[in-house]
Formats: sequence, structure tokens, C-alpha cells
Amino acid sequence: MNRFHRTLPQNPTMASKAESSSTSSSSQRRDMIHVFWHEGMLAHNTGTGVFDSGIDPGFLDVLDKHPENADRVRNLVSILRKGPISPFISWHSGRSATLSELQLFHTAEYIEELEKANEAGGKELCAGTFLNPGSWDAALIAAGTTISAIKQILDGHAKLAYALVRPPGHHAQPSQADGYCFLNNAGVAIQVARNSGCQKVAVIDIDVHYGNGTAQGFYSCSEVLTISVHMNHGSWGKSHPQSGTVDELGEGDGFGYNLNVPLPNGTGDEGYAYAMDQLVVPALHKFNPSLIVLVLGQDSSAFDPNGRQCLTMEGYRSIGRNIRRLANKFADGKVLIVQEGGYHVTYSAYCLHATLEGVLDLEDALLDDPVAYYPEDSAYSMKVVDAIQRYWKDNVPFMKES
Ligand SMILES: [Zn+2]
Repeated sequence: MNRFHRTLPQNPTMASKAESSSTSSSSQRRDMIHVFWHEGMLAHNTGTGVFDSGIDPGFLDVLDKHPENADRVRNLVSILRKGPISPFISWHSGRSATLSELQLFHTAEYIEELEKANEAGGKELCAGTFLNPGSWDAALIAAGTTISAIKQILDGHAKLAYALVRPPGHHAQPSQADGYCFLNNAGVAIQVARNSGCQKVAVIDIDVHYGNGTAQGFYSCSEVLTISVHMNHGSWGKSHPQSGTVDELGEGDGFGYNLNVPLPNGTGDEGYAYAMDQLVVPALHKFNPSLIVLVLGQDSSAFDPNGRQCLTMEGYRSIGRNIRRLANKFADGKVLIVQEGGYHVTYSAYCLHATLEGVLDLEDALLDDPVAYYPEDSAYSMKVVDAIQRYWKDNVPFMKES
């Protein structure tokens, strides 16, 4: 069987309906995804141990690499360079963030704490989150590279930009490292966008874990709608006090503008599609964003060691397609994609490929799924989504039915 259904980007049938009325040159430009990457991010060495603990109790001959390792990202890069999606990719180099850029999201005290940890030769900032020699420079590049990606959109050079970055960022709160994250790459970039006059930003976080850092940073803000679709994992200690439950809705002016969608383990492709259609799409219709940020983790996949949500490539492709159509409807087609988790070294790369195929809104899949089959039982997940929908209608002011 031929696994590669090649479709070239210049094929006019590839253009979405929204683009077909555009000039051919702008249509061509919109069909590319601008990927921002810098190999300096590979220098963040998270070590080995029993899974992500960094500890070797001595019982095992073969220790794991920490799940957030450079190999996973090497494969994300290589599948975009070598896979059938490669004609649709425009590569750009990233750069380091400045300390003043970091302060758009983080406190000065927290940044100083990270700098001191770096100068001291490293520190485990919280469970599994190791700032080692080389990590701080990599974190600065991840934040700066995400800024480069958003600026490509803000300057009118791209509609679709992807910050291919590590260490990840969505657990990093304004003054707290958490969950392998030091700097909130998406959060910093969103602030750059807002300072450039982008008034309403919708963040859709599909990493398997609650995007607590991004939520915390915009918790009192009504201009940034944060939606996190995640495994119902709850709080995991001092660095992650947020629970990710439906009642964490934001506060003050931001009340109602943090929407959590905690889904049961094993939700799968159909359950995620149902949550997108019943919850995320209606919320965006009410909110009417001028920019969409897709916070993308492949740890919602069927084979991830850190998640149990069982998405396949087709599930990711469907989410990507949904995001693109929302962007065409509300945000003049503009989507910033920011890389987060995703720890299966093979399948994360394939799921990235599928997601970007969806974002390109291609009619046919370019790449078949080499491994996935997972039997789904979506009925329970759909009941949970229906319950969340009723909760929003009763409790979220901007989602109440008029
Ligand atoms: Zn994650």
C-alpha cells in the first residue's frame, strides 16, 4: 500500500473556500505553514532516571531518558523536513527572548530566580523539571522563537505559523515553574500580539495536561479566552495547585474567560471531535477572536507515556481542520501553533504531521497512520461533554443563551 498520498501545494483544489476568492499569490502564501525552529533548543538535557524522576534506585539495567528529551523534537523537525507535508513548510530560524520580553508574562523576581539557578549550575525546580546546564539558554530560545513566529503573523508575512519549541511552556505560571516548563512561550507571544493591537485572542490547548500556566497568566483578563481540553488529572502538588475542573472559570473581569474541558481517560477521536463541536466551536462563535493560538501537545495520543486520551492521527487531523475553519471564520485565517508536550518519540511526530495536514485543510490525508488502532467507547465521554455544556450555559455569562 502506498502510504504517501501526495498532493502538491500548487493544486488549486487545495485552497479552502475562503481562499479561493483570493489572488493566486496570497492563496499560495496562505497554504504554507511558517515553522520557527532553532537547534539551540536541543541543548536542554533532562537526563535519565525512572521515567521523569531523575532518580536511579538501582533496580533497572536500562533507565529511561527523561520523556521531555531532545530526540522527540528531532523527530518533529525531521518529519516536517522529510515527510509528504514538506512542500507546505517554510522554515525560519528562531532567536533568544530578551529579559524584558519575558516580563510581558513573568515576574521579574521569577526570572531572577531562574537566572540564579542557571548560574548555580542547575536545579530541580519542581518534580521532574530540571534546569540543567544549557537549559536556560534553550528556554530563552524557545520563548524568543515563539515571539518570532507570532511576529511573522503580526507583520502580515504569514497566516499560519508554528513555533516548534522546547522546553515546553504551558504549565509555566507568571512566577512558578511546573511540569517540565520554565517560560510560558505561548503566554509571552500572546502579550506581544496584544501589545501590537491584537484585541481578542482565543487559546485552544489540546495538550493532554491542563494548561494551568497560561490560564493563570490570563485569569483576570477578558480579552484572552483560554480553553483547555485535557485529561481529568487534577492538581499535582505545590507547583500545580490548579485542578483543571469546570469551575475554574477565571476571576474579576476574566470571569468566564477560562474554560476547562476535563475529559475522562480514553476519550478518543470521536469524543474529542464532539467536545470541539459542542464546546469549543460555540465558545469561539460567542467570543469572536481576532487571533487563534493552538497550544499543541501530542501527549493526547493513543501511545503517549504521559497521557491516556487515545487520539490517533485522524483525531489530530480533525482538530487541526476545525481550528483552521474557525480561524478562517473569525481571525482572518490567522493561527499561531505552539508546541508543548508529546513524548512518544515516533507517534508524536506522526500526529504533528496529521495536525498540520488538518490546519492546511487538505482534502485527502498525506500520510497514513502506521500504528494506531484503538477501540473507542465514546458514549461516556459524550455524556461528560453534554454536562460541561449545560454547566457553561448556567454559569458562564458570555455563553448564556439569550
Ligand atoms: Zn502535556
